[in-house]
Amino acid sequence: MSIYDLKGARVSPMEQARTLYYKAEAYGHIANMGLRVGPLTMLGHLRSKPWLKVLLDCGTLFDMSTKGREGLYRQASAMALSRVVKAITETLEGVFTRPEYTVMHEDLVPPEIIYAMGLNPWMAELLGIMGPLIRSDFAERYIDVSENAGTPPDICSLPKATMGLALKGEMPRPAAILTSNMPCDGGMSCYTVLERELNVPTFRLDVPYNFYDERSTKYFADELFRAVKWLEANTPGRMDWDRLKEICDERNRSVEYQMELWDLIREKPAPLAGEALYLGHMIFMVAMPGRPACTEYMKTMVDMAKRIRAEGGALHNERFRAALWNPPTLVYPELIAWAEQRYGVVTLMDMISYNRHPYIDTKSPQTIMEGLSRIIMQGPMARHTRGPQTNFFTDLFDLYERFNLDMIWMAGHMGCKNTMALNGMFREKCRERGIPLLIIQYDLSDTRVVSPAEIRKQAEGFMETVIKAEPSK
Ligand code: SF4
Repeated sequence: MSIYDLKGARVSPMEQARTLYYKAEAYGHIANMGLRVGPLTMLGHLRSKPWLKVLLDCGTLFDMSTKGREGLYRQASAMALSRVVKAITETLEGVFTRPEYTVMHEDLVPPEIIYAMGLNPWMAELLGIMGPLIRSDFAERYIDVSENAGTPPDICSLPKATMGLALKGEMPRPAAILTSNMPCDGGMSCYTVLERELNVPTFRLDVPYNFYDERSTKYFADELFRAVKWLEANTPGRMDWDRLKEICDERNRSVEYQMELWDLIREKPAPLAGEALYLGHMIFMVAMPGRPACTEYMKTMVDMAKRIRAEGGALHNERFRAALWNPPTLVYPELIAWAEQRYGVVTLMDMISYNRHPYIDTKSPQTIMEGLSRIIMQGPMARHTRGPQTNFFTDLFDLYERFNLDMIWMAGHMGCKNTMALNGMFREKCRERGIPLLIIQYDLSDTRVVSPAEIRKQAEGFMETVIKAEPSK
């Protein structure tokens, strides 16, 4: 199963030229990183870190995101990919050129504090997320290394791949690690291996079990103040509170555009879908928020969505609207573009994107830390897979109404035991509400458990027997 299973859209030479322009721009970002890091140093990294070759092969992801799409939607997807590549190359450049200033952080601990202290953030799970999106079997050798070293095989494959990278000696060594007790036992325990293998000081933020009340917000704000002191003691970074205010103001600006974008995609037909929404959000709002590039991304997507709306929507034949609950299917990201082509299904929302974060009150360090506390404790996936089941379902049924959806696709990643445990209740609740539900049985980053072809078969079976949708020719 590959992008070549997608049918190429019939596009004009002008549209083709635009796609090529953004693809060339993405490769230009990679070349610039190589020049700034230094060609010889870069060659050394390419030799010692085989994952780098996969990560830099952004053409595959590009083709997947544009091949079957037309018009401005195709252009928005290409533009989104180019910006994602730029953001990732900038991060890698920091990791390679300033390792003594680099702080590895867990995916659910966003980097605003790290930026404000003049340090480079490096999200530990970035490779385990981006790798399979580009090459579906990317994580498998790292999963094997991890299991051979004694990690229980039933742990989620994302932390297993992250541990495998460190165990194989391919994970860049930071100055320090900032992590937490989120989002799950597997995710949390991964950091004991990272701490040992990378041999760097590690700080763990403690998120309370009940995290929606003011008492926990104050408690966690103190945790963040404690982390700042610890980072000052263990890295060259120093907190600049004015800088943190600027970063949080910037984050608020990005959220304003994000809200506007969400209002736009409520419309039928939706003016944007797929990677421009979920991948852009994952990079600019989860992994690297608070930078002008994030606001610029969200603003550009709002502008594109308005133009696409005037053209009649992202898909000319939108027939169904879906949410992909849980993290998106990393080993088969083509699922989204394929569902658009085959059945006219637009995928508008997913668990990682549906942040619903409040704005940060930036009037004082205390209010900023409280705002960041809410954002971290209520981070996507973390807030859904901890605490009572209402944390999982309330958001889901809220977004079902909000985005006028017709069905829910649950990416039932077998390693995510917290969410798997809810499947029975999930089916019951959807049945009560009359919501068609597809639970895709698969593994997030391991194609040997369920192949992409099998994932597609499950989706086909659901669309044709439950939804009774005719596939398009
Ligand atoms: S997908 Fe589930 S099991 Fe894997 S890291 Fe996220 S919460 Fe944990």
